[in-house]
Amino acid sequence: MRLVEMVPEEARLRIIIVGAGLSGIAAAISCASSGHLVQVIEQAKELAEVGAGLQITPNASRLLNHWQLPASFWESAAEPTTVTVHRYTGQVLAHEDGFHKNIRAKYNAPFVDFHRGDLQRALFSRANELEVTFHLNERAETINFNMATVHTAAGNQYNGDLIIAADGLWSRCRECFFGQKDEPLPTGDLAYRIVLRADQISDPELKAWIENPQVHFWIGPGAHVVAYSMRGGSMFNLVLLVPDDLPVGVARQTGSVDEMRMLFADWDPILTRFLSYVGHVDKWKLMHRGLH
Ligand SMILES: Cc1cc2nc3c(=O)[nH]c(=O)nc-3n(C[C@H](O)[C@H](O)[C@H](O)COP(=O)(O)OP(=O)(O)OC[C@H]3O[C@@H](n4cnc5c(N)ncnc54)[C@H](O)[C@@H]3O)c2cc1C
Repeated sequence: MRLVEMVPEEARLRIIIVGAGLSGIAAAISCASSGHLVQVIEQAKELAEVGAGLQITPNASRLLNHWQLPASFWESAAEPTTVTVHRYTGQVLAHEDGFHKNIRAKYNAPFVDFHRGDLQRALFSRANELEVTFHLNERAETINFNMATVHTAAGNQYNGDLIIAADGLWSRCRECFFGQKDEPLPTGDLAYRIVLRADQISDPELKAWIENPQVHFWIGPGAHVVAYSMRGGSMFNLVLLVPDDLPVGVARQTGSVDEMRMLFADWDPILTRFLSYVGHVDKWKLMHRGLH
């Protein structure tokens, strides 16, 4: 029997989700798994992979497990065995061995690091199995909250019983709900996001860091760095967080590799060795929201 047929018709909701980012697809899986009819409206023409890493804490990995994502997804995980916090100069401030075992023992679920593309692909595949309908190239423009109706820029109308707004930081749904322009606020920081492949690294010490999954933090004056292995220990994700110097209104821009290296020139030599392999870097303005 199909899942939707297991729920009595009077209890079956027609759910419209706006946005097919990680939140939107996750919400779609959760709702469809409970037997509801789910449609997702996404403005992008295709679901492009955003190429960077994502740390999944045990509360979230438990959910991913519950949703029965494909086995290939779990093979793409990197489960860190150690966590280390360094002073920016390299001195170790805190270190935990057996991190993976400790986390599993405490939470009965793993702490895992993924490439975002792998997670997005697995979620999308599971949502399709659950008969979620995706409408791409459809931008939600106005919403009638009394009727649970979404009108799109292309002139189409979607009717449901419930609308879930999962359209990200620059949310049109949120503006429709509050009836006014409502932009996110800059945090004052930006992130350099870097992905290195183990096969492009010749330095044996750095290669060992990538291939034996681990998490590292460096805490420095006015900046900090988070780094971890992903995709089964074949890739390394580095996020460098520094004060935001992007112009107002610019959310993302190609950065200068030399400028980035200069900012971290007197940091831990192992970090600067990783940075010597970087050929291209993007700067992402970090935004957040105030409370309403
Ligand atoms: C540097 C950095 C590192 C991070 N690291 C982690 C981490 O390690 N672990 C973690 O859990 N989180 C992390 N996060 C946070 C995480 O990335 C976000 O919380 C998450 O990606 C948000 O997903 P979302 O689906 O809510 O939004 P989005 O990914 O922004 O998706 C929104 C979707 O809605 C669509 N959309 C927008 N407007 C409309 C419209 N009007 N009509 C139709 N579609 C629309 C967009 O095209 C998009 O596909 C990190 C964030 C950053 C910036």
